[in-house]
Amino acid sequence: MNRGSFRRRLVLCALLCGAAGCRQRQPPVRKTWLTMGTFASVTVPADDARRLEKVLPALTNLTASVAADLTVYDPESDLSRLNAAAGEEAFQRVSPHTVRMIEASRRIAALTDGAFDPTVAPLVEMWGFNTGAPPARMPSADRIDRVLARVGLEHVSVSNGMARIRTAGVAMDFGGIAKGYGVDLCYDMLRDAGIENMMVNIGGNLRVGGRPEAARPWRIGVRDPFDNNRLLGTLSLFDGDAVATSGHYERFVTIAGRRYAHIIDPRTGRPVAGMAGVTVVDRAGVAADGLSTALFVLGPDALPAVLDKRPALCAALVPDVRPPSLIATPAFLDRFTPAARVRDRIRSIRSAERD
Ligand code: AMP
Ligand code: MG
Repeated sequence: MNRGSFRRRLVLCALLCGAAGCRQRQPPVRKTWLTMGTFASVTVPADDARRLEKVLPALTNLTASVAADLTVYDPESDLSRLNAAAGEEAFQRVSPHTVRMIEASRRIAALTDGAFDPTVAPLVEMWGFNTGAPPARMPSADRIDRVLARVGLEHVSVSNGMARIRTAGVAMDFGGIAKGYGVDLCYDMLRDAGIENMMVNIGGNLRVGGRPEAARPWRIGVRDPFDNNRLLGTLSLFDGDAVATSGHYERFVTIAGRRYAHIIDPRTGRPVAGMAGVTVVDRAGVAADGLSTALFVLGPDALPAVLDKRPALCAALVPDVRPPSLIATPAFLDRFTPAARVRDRIRSIRSAERD
């Protein structure tokens, strides 16, 4: 687990305690486990402690199966075997998780003009984001272009539970949506177990059901990307809402003294510069997770175009300029309570069609 997600967990824990439980007679119950290279947790009101206890083994098995299928660190994983077969004629049977990740990636790519693209995997590797071993010097433009030629979801096909990557050297990495997907699976399992009021968290990707107390909704903190210990404000979350944050503090490499974010612009083959953090609320974890990664790539100028396609888009972008400021959609601002120091540093963005 990286340090960023650990710190984020601490901030969330503190906030949940303050917001959800400490004034109740019985504090909420939280169960935590390790999966997908980070912490996962479920928080429920004390009344549901026994139900949570009962469903916990199934939940941890579920996230373990997603992690096992989708990890790129294990050469035997379902995804690694598909990647290794790139260039072969035949379709290969793959896990339902892999199929759903490809289909979800296509939907998010369509909404974001291809800014979300799991086939950036060879670029992620070239820039050293997964290995933690960045190249000593900036890769040359020629080298980037050669790898870029193998990027694009058009190289990937899915049919009847089978998948195929038709071009040798193309590979996928679902690090941009897998946690949000895991959150959705946990959410559904908890609901099926009769647990209505809960918060699921996998490495900062959240989804809530119901409310922590009858009188108020779940509230979570939006962390200042420049200062782990401070919040930019708080967000209210309602039944079924999911939240994801992509941040430059999450994972980065330093090449020749400059810091590069772990998110790659599939148009240029280079890590994104200029953005510090993006938070998205959506009706499913997979959409929130994918969109936060994609909007990190696109930046504020593209927000009106994305809003045209998805008018309810609930997103806030924090440019990589101190002190922090927010560029947010109206749906985000409706549920956001800013910290005093950012109150006059917020810009609302509307869809291009309404201008
Ligand atoms: P997140 O923290 O959800 O924004 O996801 C970041 C991860 O997504 C990276 O560590 C990469 O594994 C992967 N990734 C990087 N750039 C992209 C991109 N443009 N589209 C999809 N996935 C990406
Ligand atoms: Mg994401």
